Amino acid sequence: YAAKRHRTTVEHWRPELAAESVTDLRLQSELRTAIDQGQLELHYQPLVDARTGAVRSLEALVRWRHPRQGLLLPGLFVPAAERSDVITAMTDRILSDAIRQAACWHREGWRVPVAVNLPAPVLAQDRIVEVIAGLLAQHGLPSHALIVEVTESAVMTRPERGAERLRRIRELGVRVAMDDFGTGYTSLALLTRLPLDELKLDQSFVHRVHDPRERAIVDAVARMAQGLELTLVAEGVEDQPTADVLTEAGFDLLQGYHFGRPMPPEMLAAAAAA
Ligand code: C2E
Ligand code: MG
Ligand code: MG
Ligand code: MG
Repeated sequence: YAAKRHRTTVEHWRPELAAESVTDLRLQSELRTAIDQGQLELHYQPLVDARTGAVRSLEALVRWRHPRQGLLLPGLFVPAAERSDVITAMTDRILSDAIRQAACWHREGWRVPVAVNLPAPVLAQDRIVEVIAGLLAQHGLPSHALIVEVTESAVMTRPERGAERLRRIRELGVRVAMDDFGTGYTSLALLTRLPLDELKLDQSFVHRVHDPRERAIVDAVARMAQGLELTLVAEGVEDQPTADVLTEAGFDLLQGYHFGRPMPPEMLAAAAAA
């Protein structure tokens, strides 16, 4: 029996899984150091009014200024962080930095709301509501100047609990956006019951909007967002023709390289003043 069980174990041993977990462990421990040493920084990307082009909010996007590898994008380290506790410390730090920065802009008279990405393992924790409330109070930022972005999967792991947590975050006065919409499996029934303010259509749809069949989907999402009274956002807008189509389709806010790349806060303040 023992021999048989042993053999089963060996058959399920896949070298690529081992390699992944070793990489994960190394990354996670490097990330802990990075957080302590302040190597994580936030860049901010504008979301503009589709009709006027005015900046309506900024999304905070994390970057890792790695001592040897340069500036790393979140795709290289956020997934590994999400597979361990380190995502909690990382998100606390990101929330704190973003809220401090927004409060600073507010004091300077630039009352721009800032959006922070809230990953699934963090939304799953009860403490996050108090963490957000505490940071807003500590930095003196009005709650309506903070937006949290969650993904469908973060909510869908346990929809009732996810919806309840979002409701409590929203009771603080913080706005809630559904990020990467269209890539997950949110049922339309659930969507009507989720406490949401914004719907961000995933870039994959935005990039294909000039295809008539894709355009039909985008139009349907736009009508749905209107019916649910959600602010509708398009991510990944890279050119004017795409911006025009989305504006005509009824999108409220546009985000993408066409309007501005994610930038360090100093550069944004300069761009806003210009
Ligand atoms: P996201 O939240 O959907 O962020 C939008 C991503 O699209 C960003 O990539 C942004 O730089 C990129 N983007 C913006 N405009 C354009 C465009 O016109 N064309 C194209 N091709 N891309 C555009 P980034 O910064 O690499 O972030 C990727 C993902 O990593 C984010 O997707 C989000 O899921 C995650 N992420 C970023 N920052 C954070 C963070 O602070 N915390 C957590 N938990 N996740 C984060
Ligand atoms: Mg986002
Ligand atoms: Mg997104
Ligand atoms: Mg996306």
